[in-house]
Amino acid sequence: MSLSGGAPAARELAKAGKKVLMVEKGDYHKKFLGLPFGIRLLERYMLFARSREGVIIERGITVGGSSMVYQSNVMDPPVKLINNMGVDFRPEAKQLKKEIGIEVLPEKFYRNNKGLYRMLATADKMGIPFREQEKFVHADKCKLGCDWCMLGCPENARWTTREHVEEAKSYGAELIFNAPVNKILFNAGKTKAINAEQMFKANVGITEKIIAASNKISELRQIINLSSQAASRPSVNNIPVKEDEPGAPVTCYGKSKLSAEEAIKQKCKKYYTIIRPCSIYGCGDKDFLQLFKLVNRGLSFQIGRKDKLLNMIYVSELCRFIELCVNNPSAYYQTFFATDGQVYKQSDILSAIAKALNKHPLKITVPESFAKAVFYGGDLYGHLFHKEVVVNKEKMKEILADAWLADISKARNILGWQPIANLENNIKDTAKCYRALGWL
Ligand SMILES: Cc1cc2nc3c(=O)[nH]c(=O)nc-3n(C[C@H](O)[C@H](O)[C@H](O)COP(=O)(O)OP(=O)(O)OC[C@H]3O[C@@H](n4cnc5c(N)ncnc54)[C@H](O)[C@@H]3O)c2cc1C
Repeated sequence: MSLSGGAPAARELAKAGKKVLMVEKGDYHKKFLGLPFGIRLLERYMLFARSREGVIIERGITVGGSSMVYQSNVMDPPVKLINNMGVDFRPEAKQLKKEIGIEVLPEKFYRNNKGLYRMLATADKMGIPFREQEKFVHADKCKLGCDWCMLGCPENARWTTREHVEEAKSYGAELIFNAPVNKILFNAGKTKAINAEQMFKANVGITEKIIAASNKISELRQIINLSSQAASRPSVNNIPVKEDEPGAPVTCYGKSKLSAEEAIKQKCKKYYTIIRPCSIYGCGDKDFLQLFKLVNRGLSFQIGRKDKLLNMIYVSELCRFIELCVNNPSAYYQTFFATDGQVYKQSDILSAIAKALNKHPLKITVPESFAKAVFYGGDLYGHLFHKEVVVNKEKMKEILADAWLADISKARNILGWQPIANLENNIKDTAKCYRALGWL
């Protein structure tokens, strides 16, 4: 969103080369006949937006958010707030102040203010230090006696986050306005972590925060959560698992995703839909990239003698699946597995990659006992050096499971899901994309 807090985040992400879309409920209001923006920026025109206690609660509904109507006073983040949040953002605040060029207004702005002088004298008597207020104002542009700040500065004398919105755009971010957000799709899916606590903090903690915030937004209708097949369990005797079977995750990641699902079911007051995709592959995915890299180097590994079975879904197919859930009352309060409906052998995937890369890799079957030693070694390395590693005990449990098969009949019946599977072509496109990105 192009809000006061959102715009700096959008700018930083766009600057770092990320694809950013800023979505704003309000308009990109412009001055009219030289007049300030006025009350049309404010939610419910200042008349009815009151708290239960009667305090006017206002915010600017426009590109730039409340920074378009604020009073421009600058306060350093109080220690109490920092402690409560558990995030010390003082260095960032300092940097931002320097970047914006915070100023105090020159004396001419308050020279004739008798009330202020009386306050100063009283404060002095009481021994309270009274300092000039720092402002997000370019004092040279500020007009003496204007006082329109809170209805939008007519002189453009204040810093507003529109500057960050524009900067984000210059780095390639997109802005759409008059576009209220009423659905949220989120993942909260940290797949590697140093320990279980970190994994739960990310996957469950973020989910809980999103739910708590969403519950308070009246216009928000639907939450779609991308969970994971890992929240269920591997299949026994190659029988696909159904959504209503109790989850029995084998990894800490799976457990955290299941806990996140439970948090949604218990706490979400909006319509929610939980999607459990199986292994996702396609442009931008970094997990399958490792397999592509190995095959590209002429190697192809299979762990154990058994050619294990699994489901897959191509990223654009998953997008189609999500679209079926959006605004669909049949999808409300439901959990769905999402796969392309095919059962693949590991060797099918490796062959498709080899074909796409035009390679004839050396096929090596690694005994399970040796693989286990490698996974344990990776785990130990991660613990010793406090690093998130891909090769770890958790991954081992996932890889060594007999099969990961999910039943999608529920999605077929309720959503009308008709997957279009084309592993070979999709793997070819994925390889093309990896090459274009310079990853291969
Ligand atoms: C009159 C006034 C005076 C103030 N004076 C000061 C001051 O002097 N100093 C100071 O530090 N702070 C001041 N503030 C507070 C400061 O402006 C806010 O703390 C700050 O702007 C909050 O930033 P934010 O990003 O959290 O929210 P906001 O700036 O309110 O941004 C929220 C954005 O989200 C958009 N939005 C909301 N719902 C949706 C939706 N469903 N879909 C899409 N977009 C949506 C809104 O339109 C808005 O652009 C003042 C605020 C007001 C209202």
